[in-house]
Amino acid sequence: MDQAILETVSSGAYIMGAPVRELERQLAAYVGVRHCLTCANGTDALTLALKTWGVGPGDAVFVPDFTFFSSAEVVALEGATPVFVDVREDTFNLDPADLERAVQAILREGKLTPRVIIAVDLFGLPANYPEIRTVADRYGLYILEDGAQGFGGTFRGKRACGFGDISTTSFFPAKPVGCYGDGGAVFTDHDEWAALIDSYRVHGKGAFKYDNVRIGLNSRLDTVQAAILQVKLKAFEAYELEAVNLAAAQYTALLKDVVATPSLPEGFGSSWAQYTLRLKDKTQRDSLQAALKADGVPSMIYYPKPMHLQTAFASCHSEQSEESLCPVATSLCDRVLSLPMHPYLTEEQIRSVAKAVRNHLS
Ligand SMILES: *Cc1c(COP(=O)(O)O)cnc(C)c1O
Repeated sequence: MDQAILETVSSGAYIMGAPVRELERQLAAYVGVRHCLTCANGTDALTLALKTWGVGPGDAVFVPDFTFFSSAEVVALEGATPVFVDVREDTFNLDPADLERAVQAILREGKLTPRVIIAVDLFGLPANYPEIRTVADRYGLYILEDGAQGFGGTFRGKRACGFGDISTTSFFPAKPVGCYGDGGAVFTDHDEWAALIDSYRVHGKGAFKYDNVRIGLNSRLDTVQAAILQVKLKAFEAYELEAVNLAAAQYTALLKDVVATPSLPEGFGSSWAQYTLRLKDKTQRDSLQAALKADGVPSMIYYPKPMHLQTAFASCHSEQSEESLCPVATSLCDRVLSLPMHPYLTEEQIRSVAKAVRNHLS
């Protein structure tokens, strides 16, 4: 890692140096798609996809109610309307049945045009793409896979960041593959969209650098981050993904008789961005977190507030009918707790975390 950083710094190619293109080739090959275009962060990656599809005012974009703010923020930033969809209790991911209900409700109201479904691979687990694709095809919608937490996840041998018409990821340090700062990437099999993304990420550049043909962003991945990510990707493939899966299996074996542990549906593989328990209610969750803290065990609440209750989206409420206020997502926000999870946890650490959880719950 030190060598990768020092070589980049002494090369002087700080922006769009050779490691950026090399990394893009490696990421595209890993995921199994034709094009990977890196950018400044996972939020910009989503914005680049929406710009490529010309999403804007009057468009409805369907977003899970239980996710990080970015997934919905980018929709509003383009002037389109985020429509919040409930998630499944067992996977934390978009509920395909509620998705179809939401699309039909928007069509019935007749004010917005349904355009895109943003499916999030929450906590490392890919969303239910076979069922989401059925809904997308039925209503002519694009799927944008927000794989910010999903890189390394699988469904029947196919890898995350290859499920959307366009897919994105983030290299924020806490994600499955993190760099030493901010970073992101966009993936697609579509040649024309890839060319548009490449233009939008550099000020809407045309064929000639100083003739800009559209309004874009300044959203590049720094060369030094690309060099760091090349090292990290190697470790991720060689042993880190396996290590987090082993850690998750150990937690589950030690905890499943006392608490609802995360489920891994048939055919799915997770990259365990988080290992998230579901408690009975807010009282039990909050007291468990306090007890863990007293035992010196860090834990986090991802996420304490659903999208439809975010202050910034207060004005979107009028677009949502009463029935669409996402009861499952709202309840999960009161009951979830994420335990320490990374590839370098020792078996002893996992045992001591599990013991602290069991002590409190039993
Ligand atoms: C982290 C995250 C993002 C945003 O990524 P940044 O690189 O922080 O901009 C988007 N969506 C989800 C689900 C995330 O977890």
